[in-house]
Amino acid sequence: MNELTLKNLNKHYGKKYALKDFSFAFTDGVYGLLGPNGAGKSTLMHLITDNLLPDKKSCSEILWNNTSIRELKEKYREILGFMPQQQTLYPNMTARYFLGYMSSLKGIPAKKSLVEIDTVLKEVELYDDADKMIGGFCGGMKQRILIAAAILGNPKLIIMDEPTAGLDPKQRVIIRRLIEKLGHERIIIISTHIVSDIESIAKEILLIRSGELIANGTVEQLTAQVHSGEHTLENLYLQYYGGDAT
Ligand code: ADP
Ligand code: MG
Repeated sequence: MNELTLKNLNKHYGKKYALKDFSFAFTDGVYGLLGPNGAGKSTLMHLITDNLLPDKKSCSEILWNNTSIRELKEKYREILGFMPQQQTLYPNMTARYFLGYMSSLKGIPAKKSLVEIDTVLKEVELYDDADKMIGGFCGGMKQRILIAAAILGNPKLIIMDEPTAGLDPKQRVIIRRLIEKLGHERIIIISTHIVSDIESIAKEILLIRSGELIANGTVEQLTAQVHSGEHTLENLYLQYYGGDAT
């Protein structure tokens, strides 16, 4: 069982808090990070993936299986798969070429990467499209090739920042099923502002507002906190975020 522990994560941009004393311990399974735009989801993910450093003067700490990621350094990179919210896809690359490029960036040896690329292409069901140009892919296929890139090297910690952004409901279902399938013996954290993306697949959901963790628990535990109306996650979302809910 893996464990990712966040202790008192703080992040300022200028005078503004983007993340405030965020603490949580994740174990194997799928987690949904829920919150409207500007809540701090991407900031949290950039801290977890070590693309951004927490505030210097805070006692912020991130531990992977009880060792600080500062100590793990390169080893942490091998454990990690990241699908950022904004990522450039090269339209004139084939899916297979793009994954080859990504695996070289990850430092996967060339021989091993050939097998690895086939494995992830099958995993995201793009094996038959492997030699087509990415530029011709629909939105859902583009998101899946980015997921394929994130799972290269079989990482034990996968972070996906709004993997369903801009997708139609059918493509969202495909992505959701894929994430569900991947969510064994590793930690997956997905951010979204769409309740239905995570409701059925998340072991636990974290609600973030103005950089703070305001509630967390299983869907059952969270929906029990609804004050008025039906005990649904949608209603809880409205309760916490008011008119911002989407
Ligand atoms: P989310 O991903 O939930 O939409 P973000 O983490 O992107 O939220 O943003 C959290 C807050 O931090 C927002 O108020 C946003 O405007 C601010 N912010 C994010 N990135 C920067 C930055 N590079 N410089 C200044 N402010 C930022
Ligand atoms: Mg974001």
